[in-house]
Amino acid sequence: MQRKEIEEELVAEAKRLKARLVRFTQEPDPPQEIVPQVNGQVEGDLLDAASREAAVYQEEVLQRFLRTKGIALEEARQRLQAGSYGICQGCGEPIPEKRLKAVPYAAFCFPCQEQREK
Ligand SMILES: [Zn+2]
Repeated sequence: MQRKEIEEELVAEAKRLKARLVRFTQEPDPPQEIVPQVNGQVEGDLLDAASREAAVYQEEVLQRFLRTKGIALEEARQRLQAGSYGICQGCGEPIPEKRLKAVPYAAFCFPCQEQREK
């Protein structure tokens, strides 16, 4: 891949991320309504609260993921400009093109990434 192509891909991905984050803050999914039927109001409220909590938690996880990814994309752009793009930040070896195609913002080769996630 050409440097310009990579940069365009990184920018496009960052834009998609931003769009998703904006959607989050503007129109959060309404909590699912659970209508208490047989079990009465109290249990219904509890279920409702639980599902709201689950929704908020999911949103937080996703937001955190999107932010982390946004940072990774920005860092990849900086590496691109610094000329160190595609070089593993762990072992200094070139990151295989196959991996970069799948994850254009990858900062580590597979073995180093796995090492870090342990
Ligand atoms: Zn490595």
